[in-house]
Amino acid sequence: MKTIGMLGGMSWESTASYYKAINQGVKAELGGLSSAKICLYSVNFAEIEKLQHAGKWNETALILTKAAQSVEAGGADFLLICTNTMHKVADEIQANISIPILHIADATAAKLVSDGVTKVGLLGTRFTMEQDFYKSRLINKFGIKVVVPNDDERTIVHNVIYNELCKGEIKPDSKEQYLAIVNNLFEQGAQAVILGCTEIALLIQQKDTDVPLYDTTEIHAASAVAFALQS
Ligand code: GLU
Repeated sequence: MKTIGMLGGMSWESTASYYKAINQGVKAELGGLSSAKICLYSVNFAEIEKLQHAGKWNETALILTKAAQSVEAGGADFLLICTNTMHKVADEIQANISIPILHIADATAAKLVSDGVTKVGLLGTRFTMEQDFYKSRLINKFGIKVVVPNDDERTIVHNVIYNELCKGEIKPDSKEQYLAIVNNLFEQGAQAVILGCTEIALLIQQKDTDVPLYDTTEIHAASAVAFALQS
């Protein structure tokens, strides 16, 4: 079994979901007392969040590159960046380590393609919904059309992530708002919706809607398990 490297803490609420999903995945495959080999570096999200909102992405890249180098030195065979947003600096990190990064958008897109989804809605932070680093990967590498919520809706989605979900707060009103936004994306022709922020599944789950949801945390964790167990 390969050792899974994880850059976590962004936020730790979702890193906990990753940790559980990865260990459950390994147990499901190998049984008994089997659990995943993991080397986790968990950052202080307050530092990262401040730099994100100040547009200081180069500084976030430096912090995460150092963390990734520690994970590599700790024996990891490959790396998960346990947040969609921070894949904005995935190339900078990859350039400074020698283990491969398993990209969250690639794992998600591969599943969408194999399920025949050609047009998808995307929920995430403003950075993920509005900038190019994530959407362009889905569009150019996988040929998937991407729809994002309108400006007011993006504000709601973004604020709920930072003000509630990353602090472990789950509010029924926010859940209703998210589900309404999911429906709007469906009405605009999205065949499915990507939960493109690793905390969103803490708020809405497949049982809440008929619109197919693609939880990036679950998909990323499952692809890590498959890769770790591949011989
Ligand atoms: N975990 C979130 C994501 O997947 C947001 C936190 C962050 O900005 O890293 O994008």
